[in-house]
Amino acid sequence: MNIHKTVVVLLALLLAGMAMVPMVNAAEDLKMISADEQHQNIPLTIEGETTIVASGIDASNISSTKSLEQYAELNIPKTIKNLDIIQFENVQLKSNGTNRIPITIYGKPNLLILERMNFENIDDGIDSYSGKIEGMDKSLALFTFGGKVVQGYLELDNETITIVPVENRINTEKASHPLHIVYSSKNVINSDKANPVDHGLTPLPLGVTLSTQPIARNPATMNSVLSYATVSILIATDNAFYTQEANWVSSANQIMSMVSYQYDRADIQVMFNVVSYDASKRTQLSNDPLITTEPWNAFHNQFSLGYLQSNGADIAVYLGGYDIEDGTQGAAWGYGSYPGEYCRYAWSQMVTDTDDGLPVHIYDGSLHARRYCVIHELGHIFNANHEDSSGTNRAYAWYTPSPKYTAMWSGYYGSSINTHEYSSPSYHGDSTHNNAGAINAVKYNIASLT
Ligand SMILES: [Zn+2]
Repeated sequence: MNIHKTVVVLLALLLAGMAMVPMVNAAEDLKMISADEQHQNIPLTIEGETTIVASGIDASNISSTKSLEQYAELNIPKTIKNLDIIQFENVQLKSNGTNRIPITIYGKPNLLILERMNFENIDDGIDSYSGKIEGMDKSLALFTFGGKVVQGYLELDNETITIVPVENRINTEKASHPLHIVYSSKNVINSDKANPVDHGLTPLPLGVTLSTQPIARNPATMNSVLSYATVSILIATDNAFYTQEANWVSSANQIMSMVSYQYDRADIQVMFNVVSYDASKRTQLSNDPLITTEPWNAFHNQFSLGYLQSNGADIAVYLGGYDIEDGTQGAAWGYGSYPGEYCRYAWSQMVTDTDDGLPVHIYDGSLHARRYCVIHELGHIFNANHEDSSGTNRAYAWYTPSPKYTAMWSGYYGSSINTHEYSSPSYHGDSTHNNAGAINAVKYNIASLT
């Protein structure tokens, strides 16, 4: 009897103990440390506009974070080890002139200086801004506001800080303050082995032959006189990416902010003009039988040359929401098919590549990975190529001492190894590793496609 009683008492204590566990949750923990201490641990907040929901989260344990229990599964790239979860008020910026935004970086007050970027002029309330931290001339800030979410990218001396929304479209639309993650590049996994971005240039479909129309070269580029070429681009998506993202136009904007920044270089000088973020054919695209095997062909099937022309687009990129089955994430027929219509199209996968055979799927649909893939495939359209190209349009590697690769490198290893730069003698590269030169030489041909 006594033993039985003891067991009952122990059981009762155990149950009481279990009942108490949920009370000591992450939200309670947060209240026990001061607001200042919380901010010191968080890479970036916008002062007066940021609410901290959960800080110092180990991403592998995120499902047991009590303050997140009320939310559906969050869309968090798997290479991020540690992150904070935050919400924003409706941040309003001026589209003309300079915005000076008080922020904190690990708790220290700083001023973010931002101006509206010029790669689009679409009246959808979603806009991108570029700039820097006041007093840090080497910093780079690329932010997108609007559509209920914030996308942020801040490059500092020895780390980058990224902010992305993590709820899906339906939950973002329902939420008063959708959830975002903020994380440092110091808390992101890189890989020893590469995941191939693509198989080089995509072969033309059977039966398609190249036009023999001669390639006109612009006299300005032949004389090495630099000036801007404006290239109009249509950005399309399918149902999967449209549904998964908090706001796919905001995500597309944030990718384009880096594309535009890279092409704005003195030795490239291409200005992009986004003619539309086109989700109007998302269902046709998703229903195309080639969508998970040859999404580039599905894209070309659904977005004909006539459709691009009627939308005023020189080129088009498809931000794909499906993981294709062959372990690559991008495709373009490339400048090799110029001036045929196929030279206009590129496809980039926006979601994790699960067919890479690596222990951690390194291409994880993070902002860095998506930008790398889009900049890489657009590079092919402009005659940029991989490290093993037979011409001077080759990617470049250098050592810091860890390896760094320019954006046309054929393998993706992660955010601290693959950069978004094109090779060139003025940046990283030399006269035989000069993808910027290749782009500059053909940019007027691409700009005059319409
Ligand atoms: Zn490639």
